[in-house]
Amino acid sequence: MNQMARLTSSPGKCCFKASLDREATFCDECGSPIQRCMATDECGGLLDAAGCCPVCVAPELSLDAGSASSIKVGGSLALPLLVSNNSPVGRPLFVEELWIKGDDSEPRQVDLTFQRLNSESTAEVGLRTGVFETAGLHRFDVHIVVATRYLWREERYVFTTAIAIPVDPEGPSEIVQNYNIQADEIGAGMTIYNPTRIQKEREAGIATHAEPIRLTMRRADTLERSLGHRGYTGNLAVTKYTDLIWQGFDPGHAPLDGPIRTQTGVLGLGRASNAPEGGMNDVRLLITHDGEIDEEASVHISRRHFHLFIENDRLLLRVESQNGLLLNDTPWRRGKMIALKDGDVIRPLVSRPNAIALKVLFETQHDEVDRIILKRLVDFAGDRP
Ligand SMILES: [Zn+2]
Ligand SMILES: [Zn+2]
Repeated sequence: MNQMARLTSSPGKCCFKASLDREATFCDECGSPIQRCMATDECGGLLDAAGCCPVCVAPELSLDAGSASSIKVGGSLALPLLVSNNSPVGRPLFVEELWIKGDDSEPRQVDLTFQRLNSESTAEVGLRTGVFETAGLHRFDVHIVVATRYLWREERYVFTTAIAIPVDPEGPSEIVQNYNIQADEIGAGMTIYNPTRIQKEREAGIATHAEPIRLTMRRADTLERSLGHRGYTGNLAVTKYTDLIWQGFDPGHAPLDGPIRTQTGVLGLGRASNAPEGGMNDVRLLITHDGEIDEEASVHISRRHFHLFIENDRLLLRVESQNGLLLNDTPWRRGKMIALKDGDVIRPLVSRPNAIALKVLFETQHDEVDRIILKRLVDFAGDRP
């Protein structure tokens, strides 16, 4: 069972107040866990129930009125899409990918001429619909993949919106508009884009569409996983609520079992002492026998050897040691980031791989990793502990 209650709604004012205490892990007023954004030093944000910081990640899609006055069978359209970053605190948003999917067609990736979108700025993209083969209401789904970055960390999210475009039959310009839809919204997050109506309203001097039409966006967590932006293949996710269980450590060398509770969401592991003793680490890595430190062997472990943290619903390791480390039998250099999987063995000492290791075991429930066991092994025999 998770020791930390789950956040079921967005954090309240009380939670933001409580988060000002950098040590706080719970809101003392409503009892919700405090999950800070990785960029909390810049944004002051807390993650919502879906694990996203709404201060840093505030994309908006809208459609400009455009120049088309009607759409008929056989025609096509370049939708004048505006992509905006509504972050109020100066945090840039990175637009990684944009996809459009028509009624029956496969999703098509749209070429982007920009990636970084500074806060409160807007970029324009021409979304080609392809030829309309039939009259009627055509549906287009637009998926946008955005990223927020902080130092070497990056979280990616996918948002989706649906646009419905009424297409008139071929023939003379006197059209009977079958789609007596006046609202821009027809529910289910779908927005109607009707250039004919926009044109008529403009001619009649109605200023309805002087402003771009804002599209309703939803987080697309299934797409995030199926497109490989979040989680593991096989539809498995490690969340910020996943418990980390520390086994085989000497007393005081590992944190309490439970979700990562540090201010930054990152755990530092290495030879140096832990933060409560005035050190730099959260997990102390030493080669010990019956509580006795083997100083000679331990000196090869770097003061800060690697970091562990959760990013994009995966448990990640970042190598910090100049000497690198082995993951299973593969060497990795400083600065490399690797997603850890069930059964992985982290071997900090490349030259003495069996001197100390950390075995990673996932315990899953449905499609979420409930607990991750991190088991320290010292001077074990054989190739694989
Ligand atoms: Zn609260
Ligand atoms: Zn944030």
